[in-house]
Amino acid sequence: MNMSTKNHKLKVGLDFDGVIVDHTKNKILVAQRYGFSIAPYQIVGRRLKKLVPETVYRQIQNDVYGQLTLAAPIMKDANQVIKCLSNTIELFLVSRRQSPLFRLMAKKWLINNLPKIFSVKNTIFVDTNRDKSAVCRQRGINVFLDDHSSVLERLDSVPHRYWFDQYDSSDELDCQGLIAVKSWKDFLVKVKRLSIAQPSDR
Ligand SMILES: [Mg+2]
Repeated sequence: MNMSTKNHKLKVGLDFDGVIVDHTKNKILVAQRYGFSIAPYQIVGRRLKKLVPETVYRQIQNDVYGQLTLAAPIMKDANQVIKCLSNTIELFLVSRRQSPLFRLMAKKWLINNLPKIFSVKNTIFVDTNRDKSAVCRQRGINVFLDDHSSVLERLDSVPHRYWFDQYDSSDELDCQGLIAVKSWKDFLVKVKRLSIAQPSDR
């Protein structure tokens, strides 16, 4: 293995909300509390904004990022895939959660659901999407998985950007340079292909 392959070692950045943690049920419940009946596919931000007033949208976001986070399940197959990837690939969790309470809830959730995978070393909370981009550049992250195409579009230092598209919204937008994945298993297949193309020396 020559020196150049070392430079290509995969470093995978993962978003938290809507990628690792599944807020679907909580969003439906909170929306119901405010008198809105929504289906799972409608929890996608862009769709939800058209269905509920701005104030309700903000309240839903606020509630699911707080205490309710602890009741949210892990995304289907995420546990298995993250554990598999963590054996050979350096993983980072990069989350835009602003308030100390929201960050605390995410940390507690991680301890409960993915113990020993994410620690202070590889869990980074940021205030803005611009900060997410800066973290990727600083850490040399070259693969990123996020459920917001607008976030991915800003990650100009990341060559492999995957859009976690749980509820098929990628067909509605034209996002060049992004690769839509529908599930964690789908993501695993794609990252494995990258690993083969760019072998890790670990
Ligand atoms: Mg997200």
